[in-house]
Amino acid sequence: MAVRAGREFLAIPGPTTLPDEVLRAMHRPAVDIYGGPLLALTDSLLADINRLFRTEGRSYIYIANGHGAWEAALTNVLSKGDKVLVLESGRFAVGWGNAAAFLGAEVEVLKGEWDRAVRAAEVEGRLKEDKAGTIKAILVAHIDTSSGVVNDIEGIGKAIRAAGHEALFMVDAVASLGCVPFEMDAWGVDVAMSGSQKGLMSPPGLGFVAVNGRARAAHKRAGLRTPYWDWTARDGQVHYQKYAGTPPEHLLFALRAALDMLFAEGLSEVFRRHRLLAEAVRRAVTVWAKGRALDFNIATPSERSDTVTTILMADGRDPGPLRDYCNAKCGVVLGAGIGELAGKAFRIAHMGHVNAPMVLGTLGVVEMGLTALGIPHCSEGVQAAIEWLGKSVKP
Ligand SMILES: *Cc1c(COP(=O)(O)O)cnc(C)c1O
Repeated sequence: MAVRAGREFLAIPGPTTLPDEVLRAMHRPAVDIYGGPLLALTDSLLADINRLFRTEGRSYIYIANGHGAWEAALTNVLSKGDKVLVLESGRFAVGWGNAAAFLGAEVEVLKGEWDRAVRAAEVEGRLKEDKAGTIKAILVAHIDTSSGVVNDIEGIGKAIRAAGHEALFMVDAVASLGCVPFEMDAWGVDVAMSGSQKGLMSPPGLGFVAVNGRARAAHKRAGLRTPYWDWTARDGQVHYQKYAGTPPEHLLFALRAALDMLFAEGLSEVFRRHRLLAEAVRRAVTVWAKGRALDFNIATPSERSDTVTTILMADGRDPGPLRDYCNAKCGVVLGAGIGELAGKAFRIAHMGHVNAPMVLGTLGVVEMGLTALGIPHCSEGVQAAIEWLGKSVKP
């Protein structure tokens, strides 16, 4: 028997739940690709992507997922043989670095751990050793969706400047943009990238890259440029060039609706909502962890992200049965552990179009699964989440 009729809850870190407004925005005929309304739509989206990244630089929209936006960022500023320093804190910066290596860059990984954030002091130390300035770019994920860590991008930016190093600071904001504060210019980020299907509540298929003047200067010398990703080609006056071909019209309609929702709520309110709901998840996990069968993957509370929580099972216990139970019996889809955490962890995403019933419902189902499967836990987890939200969200 099951209790899963009704709407399925996606609690995976992307793609995330699509608002009905976003779905409806796509349900319309295609339009002329040379007409004024589509040109105005592109202009409005590019301006608003700058607003999300908080930059006075220039943004590009690619028909691509996050992996495509990674490649767009790399090919526009690097040449074969350039050295790239990857700051490890999970899987994603390393994945970006692997793409750089495939393209012909020389990649060095600043070894990190999967249970903690990148340490700015270690970055500063490594850069100070590079007196000849051979490192051309530094790659880091703001929030690493595999480990559930949030990195201190502002602090790493300061460390790069303290080392007096000229490398481009390149940040993956796929799992953070539109969910938590991101300050591209104030933090000294030269290239930032993101995608449509996580915090931005849109279908997968759009990749975003924002670049400042330093990155544009590096672009002029870059040897890895290709026609599809190239910024100079996309800077052309003809609208068609901005997408290197036919614009992804329906994805643009969707994104417009999603960004309208974010701005109508107010970005600071959106960030506060994410923080409150993430903390509700953390309160529940803290209580469940008293049973010693599971715990947070990220050891230090302040390094746990507000968009995804990675929960590690103790004693080599397989999280598979819990995920299967939640999905098959209750219609809640939890994220699997990936990379080093495959078969060891599960993830609860709380990013994008999420509210209290979705998060409390998900937590309730996880606690139900822990009970049904006889996994040791303290059973007051959902109660702790309710108390946190009840105290924090004032009448
Ligand atoms: C999801 C994700 C990616 C990859 O995005 P795709 O759209 O799946 O290619 C990259 N970086 C981070 C931090 C992510 O969460």
